[in-house]
Parts: sequence; C-alpha cells; structure tokens
Amino acid sequence: MEYDRILIRYGEISTKGRNRNKFVDKLRRSVRFALAPFPKIKILAERDRMYVLLNGENHQEVLEELKGIFGIQSLSPAVKVEKNIEEMKEAALMLVQGRYDEGNTFKITAKRSDKTFELDTDGINHTFGAHILQNIPGIKVDVKNPDINLKIEVRPEAVYLSCETILGAGGLPVGSSGKAMLMLSGGIDSPVAGYLTMKRGVELEAVHFFSPPFTSERSKEKVIDLAKRLSEVFGSMKLHIVPFTAVQQAIREQVPENYSMTTTRRFMLRITDEIRKKREGLAIVTGENLGQVASQTLESMYAINEVTNTPILRPLLTMDKNDIIKIAVELDTYDISIRPFEDCCTIFVPASPKTKPKREKVQHYESFFDFEPLIQEAVDNTEMLTIKPDRKQPAEFQDLF
Ligand code: ATP
Ligand code: MG
Repeated sequence: MEYDRILIRYGEISTKGRNRNKFVDKLRRSVRFALAPFPKIKILAERDRMYVLLNGENHQEVLEELKGIFGIQSLSPAVKVEKNIEEMKEAALMLVQGRYDEGNTFKITAKRSDKTFELDTDGINHTFGAHILQNIPGIKVDVKNPDINLKIEVRPEAVYLSCETILGAGGLPVGSSGKAMLMLSGGIDSPVAGYLTMKRGVELEAVHFFSPPFTSERSKEKVIDLAKRLSEVFGSMKLHIVPFTAVQQAIREQVPENYSMTTTRRFMLRITDEIRKKREGLAIVTGENLGQVASQTLESMYAINEVTNTPILRPLLTMDKNDIIKIAVELDTYDISIRPFEDCCTIFVPASPKTKPKREKVQHYESFFDFEPLIQEAVDNTEMLTIKPDRKQPAEFQDLF
C-alpha cells in the first residue's frame, strides 16, 4: 500500500464564506498549472479541502510543486481506505513504518465525522495504537510531543490516514482578489513587490517602460526574464512594453533638470493608469520603498501621486533593503535583477534631482508644453506580450492560458 493522494488544506480561504467557490476555483487552477508535469494526477476540489489523486505519480515530487502555491495552508500525503478495520490497520502500520526511525515515539489523532462508525475516537486510538505497538518493536507512545502523529479521519465516504503535515505557502490563490498592474523595472524591488502582491491573491499584468536606443534589447530581455519568473505563480503573465523614448526626450528638453525625474515618474504613472483602464485593473503596484532614493521621499510620492487616484500598492514601502534582497534571492529574481543593464530611468537621472519636489512647481514646469499627444502615442504603441514560464507544459494544459 502506498500514498494515493495529497490532502490540501485551504487555511485562510475557508474563512471567506460567500466567495468560497471562487477561491476554490482559483486554487484549483493554480494546482492544475503547477502539476502540469504530472499528467496522471486528478484534482478533486471540495468545499473545505482538495485532494490530488496521484494515480501512480511520485508523492514527493508532487509535494515539492504544491509547496509554492498561494492559498494552501498545509499539505499531507494520505491514504484513503474503506471503513474496514483490517484495511485501516494495514494502512496505519504502513504509514508509521514509512516514517519510523529507531527510538521514535508516536501518537494517534482520531477524528470522526461519521458518527455511525463502529469505534468512537477513543476506540480508534486504542485499536490502532495497539496494532502499531505490536508490530513495530521498540516504538513508544508519547501523546505530548510525538515524533510521528498518525491522523485517522473517519468521514462519511471513507477513512483518510496521514502522518505528515507540511506547511504550505499560505496567502490566497492568485486571481481571487482581482487584477492590478505591476510597474516592473529591471531592478531588485519591483519583482519582489509583485510576488508579495500575488501572494494576497492579486492577478498581475506587468508594465515596463523601455527607451531604445538609450536602453538596450538586453535590458528588455532582463525584464522578460523577470516576468517569466513571476509568471510561474499563475502560469502566464501579460507584459506591456511602453515605448518611452519620445516622452523622455521631451521631458529633458522642456522641464528643468532638477524636476525632470518627478515629471518622468508622473508620466509613467499616468501611462500605466491608462493601460490599467484598458485592461480593467483595479490598482497599480510599485517597488517603491520609503527613503531609498530621491524619488522615494514622501514629498516626492505626494507630487507624483497627484496624477491619479487609482490605489497605488507599495508592498515594500516600509521594508529594509536586506529583507527585500532576501526575498529576491529566494525567488531567484536577484541574479536576474543585478545583471548590469541600464534602466530607462537611470539613463536620464539628473545630477541632483529634487528630493522634496513641490506639486505647484512641477505643474508649472509641465504647463509650457503639450505632452498629451506624446503620452497618447506611448499608450497606443504599447506592445503586449504574453509571458509563460520556461518549463514544458503537456498539450492539454496549453489552451488554459
Ligand atoms: P526597482 O528595484 O524596482 O527598480 P528602485 O529601488 O530602483 O526599484 P526606482 O528606480 O525609484 O526604485 O523605481 C521605483 C519604482 O518605479 C520601481 O520599483 C518600479 O515599480 C517603477 N519603475 C521604475 N522604473 C521603471 C521602468 N522602467 N518600467 C516600469 N516601472 C518602473
Ligand atoms: Mg530601479
């Protein structure tokens, strides 16, 4: 007898009463995508839990994939058996034997939602505890702090046994909290901001400002590689590439140098907001962090944010750089982010940008030139790419995205 399924516990989503169906649906989609390399598996989604039926696939490998999925609180490889004492005994022994190292202790945790079952929880504990003590020489019971906790759950349809609970990634299933636009530079911060936002269930489309020939194809490739990493969470991600050269050149010619960065940011935000409208997003996400650089002071955010009242999510706002880097390393985005290619914003960075720009001043400086046609042109000529992870997908999953 072997593990025949993985039990997935939802955690947070089970508290969201009315939206539950949507949550379960989105989680099912994430699971389906993550398990694309295992064509034999089947997913059984129920209101309060999900089962991945292994049908012969390796449970360790499947678990590895499931660990990264948002919306899963915990996971257990499990066995389903009939409500038959002999069969249950065999499964119980098999599971404990599989985990047992010399000197280990165990306990049994019984749950019985089928009240018609012939044994109550005490009866289950005693019957199967005795069976294990008889068959594994040297094993002892420890009800407080056991090495092995064998869970036996008697439900109306069958009995489930498991003895390992693995922590999931937590969060909410991607797509269950609506859609937002991620302003994705080639830097360290914005991919991390994107990841943290997806963890709260938000589906993202990325927007990148590209200024050829000042920024090279290779800096665009860098952003595509970052988007690829992020796309692994949901199976695919749209990336909007905004041609920004003409706008930047006009800013350089029309706005005093120490305010050019403020204006650049304002226009980037406006353009992103236009794309958001078209794509029916509800918010904009940035990698901004309070106090890192001139554009990231409160004064600066106040002057820049004036161009829209769309919610701007800044998940990294209060974090320390070291903690952001730690997450980037875990995500495998760090090595991509530190590739030494220029970003459109670093190219035109003035020698001394205003750290405390004023709204009235930036409005004044922008009033001498009609930037509107250039901004519209940038929006209209934005290219939309569909980015997918590198890994191969079996044909049956391809039409999903
Ligand atoms: P990052 O590490 O994400 O590049 P940063 O610390 O370099 O951030 P800034 O350069 O001030 O900070 O950028 C702040 C935020 O503005 C970025 O996190 C990103 O969300 C957005 N941004 C900057 N440059 C671009 C760009 N070329 N395309 C899209 N968004 C950008
Ligand atoms: Mg940057």
